[in-house]
Amino acid sequence: MPQTAANTASAIPSVDRLLRADAAVELTERFGRAAVLDAVRTVLASLRRQLADQDAPDAPDTSEAAILARTGKVLDALMAPSLKPVFNLTGTVLHTNLGRAPLPEEAIAAMAAAAGASNVEYDLAKGRRGDRDDHLEDWIKRLTGAEAATVVNNNAAAVLLLLNSLARRKEVIVSRGELIEIGGAFRIPDIMSRAGCRLREVGTTNRTHPKDFAEAIEARTALLMKVHASNYAIEGFTAAVPEKTLAALAHEHDLPFVVDLGAGMLVDMERFGLPHEPTPAESIADGADLVTFSGDKLLGGPQCGIIVGRKDLVDRIKKNPMKRAMRVDKVTIAALEAVLRLYADPDRLVERLPTLRLLARDPVDIEAMARRLQPELARRLGEAVVVNVTPCQSQIGSGSLPVNRLASSALVLRPVTKVKTKSKTGGAALRRLVEAFRSLPTPVIGRVHDDALLFDLRCLENEAGFIAQLDGIAAS
Ligand SMILES: *Cc1c(COP(=O)(O)O)cnc(C)c1O
Repeated sequence: MPQTAANTASAIPSVDRLLRADAAVELTERFGRAAVLDAVRTVLASLRRQLADQDAPDAPDTSEAAILARTGKVLDALMAPSLKPVFNLTGTVLHTNLGRAPLPEEAIAAMAAAAGASNVEYDLAKGRRGDRDDHLEDWIKRLTGAEAATVVNNNAAAVLLLLNSLARRKEVIVSRGELIEIGGAFRIPDIMSRAGCRLREVGTTNRTHPKDFAEAIEARTALLMKVHASNYAIEGFTAAVPEKTLAALAHEHDLPFVVDLGAGMLVDMERFGLPHEPTPAESIADGADLVTFSGDKLLGGPQCGIIVGRKDLVDRIKKNPMKRAMRVDKVTIAALEAVLRLYADPDRLVERLPTLRLLARDPVDIEAMARRLQPELARRLGEAVVVNVTPCQSQIGSGSLPVNRLASSALVLRPVTKVKTKSKTGGAALRRLVEAFRSLPTPVIGRVHDDALLFDLRCLENEAGFIAQLDGIAAS
């Protein structure tokens, strides 16, 4: 194409001239001079590349207005938060990729209040240095019946720290059926070796007996360990050694018995019509010397790992220099304290703790919501997509209660295809639909099943907010 003055490099306005333009002044007010300058330079560099490209079909617009419009877009993209709220309509309540437990208002308020200077490690009564566990320990002891407690970054850290503190250069005996992998590369054997311990596996995949443990105990043994096989279940011809038996056997040999519980719900879930999940209090009552569990699984709090049990053992763990590398920050402590306080009133827990409220939600209410939303979505998506309501099964997620499913309802969004068989165009239409929902200001994440996009509504509480942004879908 012929080169004109408007599309040669010499036609590009100077940086100084661009920065003096009204549009640039507005951008500077919003984003600051340094960021605007940087963005202008990025846009100009890209323009020069475009102009130099002989094969480009169209010459780029080098007007001041066009350059500043592009600069605005660059800055909007740069300054948009990367971490955003989403609608989790995947049907997995505790979705690790979507942040696990949604926090209660009380915790959010406590996090904001603690964000400035706070007495995280300062004893206000005595006017001297305090211990950050002090804010939490009494609550945790109360809710688990344990003698002592400490909190670290997550449960993986809790397990690593426990093993390193109590079993370094020694052996830990675990049943073969419990050598689990949790999503995100947490594998019991790997954690063991990183903690400096030797894993001694006993029994078989499906059956382990007390004598398997008894025969493995020797001078090098540091601990007997039980790992809650949270994300899978072995069915059929199985045998596992009960906690009580393992605790008694460990104590006969003067060894600690420790349990990695994983989810660690603090109250009996059956109370809320949900399947039973072992609690730390049960393990402690069964004789466990230490129990580890997550803060952001069924407990419904912030990401953290909690270690409870015998005071002498917790003291040893707290003295390990690794504890310092795994400590939780003040904002996490604030959130966890607020969540634990909610447990003091179990009668209202199901209303106040989002995780439990979502898990215990009445399927009838979910279906009613699906029926309300179906016409809203159908109207906006037009004839290209058929929207139906279907019963479905939610899962708890994060490895909790893997075999239990909760009755729920979903909206099924199915792009209309002319051909009955699964065509390529049908697949592309579905992909575009998934992407359109993912691109909304508050992205909507569903799951694709059987050539349709499913929105399990169990976790949708902000129905008005969901509807409010749907016009954005029709426009896309
Ligand atoms: C989830 C889980 C872990 C890891 O906990 P995080 O809090 O995700 O670090 C460890 N052990 C078991 C049994 C688990 O279920």
